[in-house]
Amino acid sequence: MTSHSEPSAPRASRGRRSVDDHAAAVRDLLHPALERLGRDAVTVPLPEARGRVLARPVIAPLDLPPFDNSQMDGYAVRSADLPGRVTAVATIAAGHAEAALAPEPGPRAAAPIMTGAMLPAWADAVVPVEAADPPRFVATGEEVTLPEAPAGQFVRAQGSDVTRGTTVLEPGVRLGAAQIALLAALGLVDVPVRDALRVAVLSTGDELVQPGETLPPGRIYDSNGPMLAAALEDAGAAVLTVQAQEDSPEGLRAALARLDGVDLVVSTGGISQGAFEVVKQGLEGGVEFVSVALQPGGPQALGAVTIASGTVPFLGFPGNPVSSLVSFEMFLRPLLAGPRPSVRAVLEGAADSPAGKHQVRRGALRDGRVRLEGGAGSHLLHALAQADCLVHLPVGLERADDGAEVEVWIV
Ligand code: AMP
Ligand code: MG
Repeated sequence: MTSHSEPSAPRASRGRRSVDDHAAAVRDLLHPALERLGRDAVTVPLPEARGRVLARPVIAPLDLPPFDNSQMDGYAVRSADLPGRVTAVATIAAGHAEAALAPEPGPRAAAPIMTGAMLPAWADAVVPVEAADPPRFVATGEEVTLPEAPAGQFVRAQGSDVTRGTTVLEPGVRLGAAQIALLAALGLVDVPVRDALRVAVLSTGDELVQPGETLPPGRIYDSNGPMLAAALEDAGAAVLTVQAQEDSPEGLRAALARLDGVDLVVSTGGISQGAFEVVKQGLEGGVEFVSVALQPGGPQALGAVTIASGTVPFLGFPGNPVSSLVSFEMFLRPLLAGPRPSVRAVLEGAADSPAGKHQVRRGALRDGRVRLEGGAGSHLLHALAQADCLVHLPVGLERADDGAEVEVWIV
């Protein structure tokens, strides 16, 4: 692992691959595909840019604010005229420049001005209307008494937010609401973003039934498919297909052979020690099955599979939903969307962690304290849904006591 791991953490024991080594293997596997995404930019219209990763720097084509304007509803004044009595000239409304561009009035003038309206060139300050005597807008030609106002008071100067020609967003930035607002404020409509990694998600298991169908005895609804699709899209990937496959090795190979135009296949289930491990049985050869010193998420598969459009990287995550999501968070998400924000927090209650393994627990973070949600069981979806962070108990830490400081990823 990258910045999240403990540099001095003991290595994993008993032939297991360490979390760091597996993360590096996944990174190597996906390197060519991710490098292509870094190179190839596509242009999307602004409303479709949310969640995408910027491919090129954005240079401001104009100043923000584009003109000096008022930060208050008040009177635009010459600070040198104040304090004292001034005469109201034409009112300046937001979006209407005529009054601001009108010829300069004589001395001791004040223009009623609304928030966001253009400041006339002759004015250098704004007095809020409530500070005036009387505390209201007077008619043009009437007098009003205003207090002292230093130059620049309540003026939003042109270019004080952004200066034209400067780089306002760097490549690699994920575009959220704030970045989209900045692009919109700059009048930009075509956004150069990285091509998204195209992913196919395959859930495996004879027990799986799709939500919405009736649930026969012994079966469960497929939660991994929707979960990983959501997690991948949240990390900026494009999920082209989400499918469930029965525990038939031939069926799995046939489903892969039908896949077209994806950069990565992610499966869940069928990679551990049972008698019907469909991914193990169906993909022997090009795919490696390893035991990672991680709990949950120990069994992992990675390699290459042949689909209709060629050979593409393959990642096999374990079937238990929490194991699957922890695998995604540890090995795939950092490559797509960078590291999660990581903080140190005080553990409420004690936690035990298996020897030689990096344990990831689910937690709720409040005011620097983290409470574990649910036990270590990797089927505990309700607790996962209550959690807002992942608690890391690295190799070498077999017990964290109540009050211990632990590393937490905010998810
Ligand atoms: P497996 O790794 O295939 O042995 O599955 C481990 C556990 O995860 C079993 O209890 C499965 O029923 C469960 N599981 C596997 N796939 C899914 C899925 N797509 N949604 C929910 N649970 C699953
Ligand atoms: Mg299974």
